[in-house]
Amino acid sequence: MKRLEQSKRRSYQDDLASMLTMSEQRRFRQAIRVAHRQSKTFTRGVTHFSSLRTGVSAEAGQVFVKAYKSNRKTVSSFKEFHRSAVRVRGTGDEVTWCPYCGLNGASDLDHYLEKSKVPELALFAGNLVPCCPTCNRVRGRTFEKNGQRRILYFYGDRIDRLECLVKSTVRFDKNGPSISFCTKRARGDVGRVFCRHFEAVRLASNFRDEASDLLKAFRGQFSGLSDRIATQVVRKDLTETDCRCGVNSCRSAVLRALLSSPELMKWVCQ
Ligand SMILES: [Zn+2]
Repeated sequence: MKRLEQSKRRSYQDDLASMLTMSEQRRFRQAIRVAHRQSKTFTRGVTHFSSLRTGVSAEAGQVFVKAYKSNRKTVSSFKEFHRSAVRVRGTGDEVTWCPYCGLNGASDLDHYLEKSKVPELALFAGNLVPCCPTCNRVRGRTFEKNGQRRILYFYGDRIDRLECLVKSTVRFDKNGPSISFCTKRARGDVGRVFCRHFEAVRLASNFRDEASDLLKAFRGQFSGLSDRIATQVVRKDLTETDCRCGVNSCRSAVLRALLSSPELMKWVCQ
């Protein structure tokens, strides 16, 4: 997973203007100003947020949420907008996979700050993250009760600067090899958010399942190769994958596991 960036951001007022009548726009001008203030706080990479609360009345909040829910056409155009605007930093490639897990396609839009808590951000582009339905369903709240952030914010967090935080353990039993994953102790704030994020979107089990498929694919690809040649191929793949998907992606973790376990390397070369 790497930091994503938006190459273009439509203004929040433009988005709302297409949704609300003139009188509603007047009523909610104040709310829009509050939304901007709120969004500035979380786009600065704040990792501790104990006072997340709405700046608008319940009645105003309902209009924002209703506009998001009722206007399907606009919401689907938001998805299109995000798909084209969100690119992997450095490569210019469009993101088609979910940044939360890095494994599935991104067909949902997640409200980074929950629309139940800050409804004025229900339509704010910077608060909408394209992700897969599974991560959207399981991720839970954005902040712990003590205010610590538990979900990565891919528009702002410098994921590309993180150290390698995924630890793998290779095991062999009668069914063959398996790899399990957990996180190492992180040094910085964003690293600690990564570790909580890893738990929140259940990356340990997602990575384990993906690793099982990857190992089968490697076994087909490496069959008959010497360990030495296979190691060279895996090293090259790892360099490319680290660069393309980040050092904490599932594929990188599996390739590192292969390099750390001669027994596993032997198994894929059989
Ligand atoms: Zn996902």
